[in-house]
Amino acid sequence: MQQLTNEQLIQAAQQFGTPLYVYHSEKISEKYQQLTTAFHKSNTKIFYACKALTNISILKHIKSLGCNVDCSSINEVKLALYAGFKPTEILYTSNGIAFNEIVEAKELGVYITIDSLSNLAKFGAAFGNTYPISLRIRPNIMGGGNIQISTGHDESKFGIPITQLQQILELVQQYNINVQGLHIHTGSDIDNIDVFIKGIEVLFEIIHQFPNLKFIDLGSGFKVKYKEGDKPTDISLLAQKIYEDFDNHPSAKNLEIWFEPGKFLVSECGHFITQVNVIKHNEEATFIGVDSGFNHLIRPMFYGSYHTIKNISNPNGEEQEYAVVGNLCETDTFAWKRKIATTQEGDYLCFSNAGAYGFEMSSNFNSRYKPAEVLFKNNEASLIRRRDVFEDLLRNQTGL
Ligand SMILES: *Cc1c(COP(=O)(O)O)cnc(C)c1O
Repeated sequence: MQQLTNEQLIQAAQQFGTPLYVYHSEKISEKYQQLTTAFHKSNTKIFYACKALTNISILKHIKSLGCNVDCSSINEVKLALYAGFKPTEILYTSNGIAFNEIVEAKELGVYITIDSLSNLAKFGAAFGNTYPISLRIRPNIMGGGNIQISTGHDESKFGIPITQLQQILELVQQYNINVQGLHIHTGSDIDNIDVFIKGIEVLFEIIHQFPNLKFIDLGSGFKVKYKEGDKPTDISLLAQKIYEDFDNHPSAKNLEIWFEPGKFLVSECGHFITQVNVIKHNEEATFIGVDSGFNHLIRPMFYGSYHTIKNISNPNGEEQEYAVVGNLCETDTFAWKRKIATTQEGDYLCFSNAGAYGFEMSSNFNSRYKPAEVLFKNNEASLIRRRDVFEDLLRNQTGL
């Protein structure tokens, strides 16, 4: 197991300042290898869901591993092309987008997944069978950690509900649309393998209706380990079950199986380092106030995610119970009643699992600067995005 040391993290914090996102290339490679070892068959393709972390240096590293890329916006498609991915290595999984973005994606020559009847009809009318597409189906099953990060249930906006299959088929027939793939993505943090298996069963019931089918895209949602005792998705068991399912189903045997992991590949590689500004003793809690807030790491406030927090300046100190909070003029609690080694002002606190949806969801709220990003490769740290400076706050404003 690859691991950056506390000394390396502190050194990076001192060299590049805080708050700081630090990523570890070798960890990403390790996770990719774990995935491809489990999903070893040549009919399986991995597309990194780059909305988790789009820094070009990360995209280039992922490309160097031989991985493909999954995009959630046309700009992500352009970033992927910029990073060197070929159009045939890029999948655009669209959701609720304007049709002109689909046209643009088609002109760029990337794989396109359509997720509404409306865009499917527009696509059919404009392009008929001249360009293959895939369809995102909403299987109407519940999966994932909580309702905010679950996307396959019957109140979710994602995908075309399986109950509208008839309308899909009518459009496909009317415009002779070439449907080469079916896609489901039921949410995040799915530890129960049966959720994937159920999704596959839903698709297996309809694949015979799509004679041009080449692949089934099972999305992602692999759960990662945030703390001791967490049960991550058992990737090897999942691979074994999925392969069995496909082998046992006559019309699925020759289909490719695609995945779009985001968090699985980059969550663990990321460390978010903050420095302690103030310690406050109150009746209810001792607050550690760090030089950041939900403007830099929104996940705990946004959907209750858990990040292990370590005092890397005093790693062996006696543990005490703290509340870790930010410096925003808004409640920004990172952790409540958390055991952390005795902490003093000036110490560095490191948040784990900060690679996915960390920097990517950051903002300039409170007119704070977005953090810098650093990438370790072969134990060498390099800056891959500088910290904002004051001019960045003014950059797009007119009338100055
Ligand atoms: C976000 C997303 C993913 C990645 O999900 P993770 O939980 O980060 O692995 C994959 N596919 C689609 C369509 C997504 O929207």
